Amino acid sequence: MHMTEPHLPIVIIGGGFSGTLSAIHLSRRLPNVPIILLEESSTAGPGLAYRSSDPSAWLNVPAGKMSAFPDKPDHFLRYAQIALGEGVVPDDFLPRRIYGHYLANCLREEQEKNPLLRVDHRRAIDVISPDSTGTARVVLKDHHTIDASLVVLASGNQGSAFSSSIWASHTLPARDPEAIAKVKADQSVLIVGSGLTMIDTVLDLHRRGDAKTIHAISRNGLLPQPYAHPSKLELPDLDHLPDSNLRKTVRLFRQAIDRQIAKGGDWRDVFAAIRSSTPSLWQELSFKDRTKFLRFLSPFWEVHRHQCPPEIHEKVRHLIATGKLILHRGTIVTVERGEKGPRMGLAARNRNAPTRWLEVDHIFDATGPARDIQSIRHPLIQNALRRGFLKPDTHRLGAETSADYRAIGRDGKPASWLFVVGPMLRARYYEATAVHELRLHTAALATRVEAELRIRDPEKPMQPA
Ligand SMILES: Cc1cc2nc3c(=O)[nH]c(=O)nc-3n(C[C@H](O)[C@H](O)[C@H](O)COP(=O)(O)OP(=O)(O)OC[C@H]3O[C@@H](n4cnc5c(N)ncnc54)[C@H](O)[C@@H]3O)c2cc1C
Repeated sequence: MHMTEPHLPIVIIGGGFSGTLSAIHLSRRLPNVPIILLEESSTAGPGLAYRSSDPSAWLNVPAGKMSAFPDKPDHFLRYAQIALGEGVVPDDFLPRRIYGHYLANCLREEQEKNPLLRVDHRRAIDVISPDSTGTARVVLKDHHTIDASLVVLASGNQGSAFSSSIWASHTLPARDPEAIAKVKADQSVLIVGSGLTMIDTVLDLHRRGDAKTIHAISRNGLLPQPYAHPSKLELPDLDHLPDSNLRKTVRLFRQAIDRQIAKGGDWRDVFAAIRSSTPSLWQELSFKDRTKFLRFLSPFWEVHRHQCPPEIHEKVRHLIATGKLILHRGTIVTVERGEKGPRMGLAARNRNAPTRWLEVDHIFDATGPARDIQSIRHPLIQNALRRGFLKPDTHRLGAETSADYRAIGRDGKPASWLFVVGPMLRARYYEATAVHELRLHTAALATRVEAELRIRDPEKPMQPA
């Protein structure tokens, strides 16, 4: 290839947090390389998470901790102060849509500096591996194709954990304004899931004042814990936690919590202290211990790790106390048509407990995005699986990837051209959904993509002359 021949574009599929930040980091590192960010919705930046137009859908992390750039911790705060007023302080929980505007603005600013960074609002439905000239191809829904040197899969939160359940056809999607509008005055509702998505749905329904009674069910019936500011105490040193023995790790972790509380601190300090070592702990666990963790501990881990704003927690507690929200601990064992609507058999966690029956008008699926990529119905993911470019991990948390973000295919080999970023990285890191982790992954991904291009074309200028 001649040195002056232009670079083929890097194509990033998905313009949510992961794709947008990857595009920005790549644009800064490789200003001579065209980058195409494919985002099927009309705005790149917010993604599924921060697209909500509802002003009362809140971030679950305070503004001071939501910067998209770890080296500029006040970046989001400063944007929010300009957008909403100087009164915004780091501890404030802000509407999610402000964060969506922030991400779109970060992208716009980068595009103003780099005309080679383009956004294309079309849907990718397939990817084709490189031909003999090294050209990979992205197939779009409108049957056009885009040639690419490399493809970054950042398609994000898709499907739902409940969608493969046989009861899924009876459910409405949570957080969907049209579905919420179907609930009429005095109707009752069951929400499947008891996490942050359930809370959003309850508050949506409650605001409209329609639902008579809201039931929610999950395996453990656990609610997310309320956020509280970290104590002023020094964070405990958790470096001594053994990597490969779950039982011992959990015991020492609990002891660290007890010690922190005895010193006047808070359990959240210990969760904060372990955050950066979670990926290595996860990677060192045996298959058996990972299975045990997912089965018995992860529900508790999740509600402590992914907390909600204290005011929201308070509201939910009030709804429970006044009987407007009833939490059930168990699973749905059967759904049949009752007189008014679906009639459900619920089994408590204790298998010996008799099946209880519940009749509601609507069921909402609030189980959150699917982790098992095989259950995602999006043609892009299905085609990538069919072609063997993606491989689910054995615990069905996401996609197998190498340490440098390459997709590991069915043949067990890391791809030279297909990279993955976003929640699918859970398979490797366990924690890979929050901004705190994804901002680091997107920056690291850009360094790996740059390294790959430099190996391929050492002579080609990646920076302007
Ligand atoms: C409702 C919600 C609230 C959250 N709140 C917080 C919070 O307060 N704090 C925090 O730290 N974390 C939060 N998170 C977690 C985290 O920030 C998100 O999971 C994160 O935004 C993931 O970004 P993403 O780009 O990987 O995925 P997504 O946000 O799902 O974006 C993926 C994008 O890709 C596009 N796309 C997908 N497939 C294609 C295709 N084939 N062609 C073209 N475009 C495609 C979609 O339209 C979408 O815009 C939240 C998550 C959710 C779901």
